[in-house]
Amino acid sequence: MQEARGKTVTVIKDILGANEQIALENRGLFNEKGVFVLNVMAAPGAGKTSLIQRTIEPLRDRLRIAVIEGDVASTIDADRIAGLGIPAVQINTGGACHLDASMVRSALSGLSLEDIDLLLVENVGNLICPTGFALGEHLKVMVSSTPEGDDKPYKYPGMFSAVDVLLLNKVDLLPLLDFDMDTFRRGVEALNPNVAFFPVSCKTGEGIEAWVEWLLARRDQGFQP
Ligand code: MG
Ligand code: ZN
Repeated sequence: MQEARGKTVTVIKDILGANEQIALENRGLFNEKGVFVLNVMAAPGAGKTSLIQRTIEPLRDRLRIAVIEGDVASTIDADRIAGLGIPAVQINTGGACHLDASMVRSALSGLSLEDIDLLLVENVGNLICPTGFALGEHLKVMVSSTPEGDDKPYKYPGMFSAVDVLLLNKVDLLPLLDFDMDTFRRGVEALNPNVAFFPVSCKTGEGIEAWVEWLLARRDQGFQP
């Protein structure tokens, strides 16, 4: 029993180690081609695709943008982005609940990196394992949303502590919900005191300008994490 358990741990370490290696190669390629990359993570329905759309709107005249959409099945999100005239590649994970670095590497063959300044990667909707798998991104972005509740940081500490920036979406619904902003912020603060935090509404556009300005400043700082 003891030995079997030891082997399982070794196998998991190897998988994560192999992913880390490919992620580093992806990152090297992005840096070489001058592509700034975001890994956008959230629970299903929090508004990842809407946030990506809202981020594209003010930036599309300034930066060349492309999107990789990760979903278990369907091309709904990639079709939505392609409908905006933005290059979009869909990854269907065929059941897997997160993207990994090799999936992203395969998807890159469908994009011309020379012609991209900003690449938005939408991860599979899941609050647990996506943070365990680096993709080669420069920034880890989390979208949480008010209907999910103010207790989310307490229930999913792994993701809240791993991200560089946190957007709290659907703040237009706050008057209808028992969402206590102080409870939410205290939970986030305890896990990740340095995280950049933006309350936004992808429906009304509230807060989007502040987020986009921050993103541009981070990109200008260069391609280091
Ligand atoms: Mg989506
Ligand atoms: Zn997973």
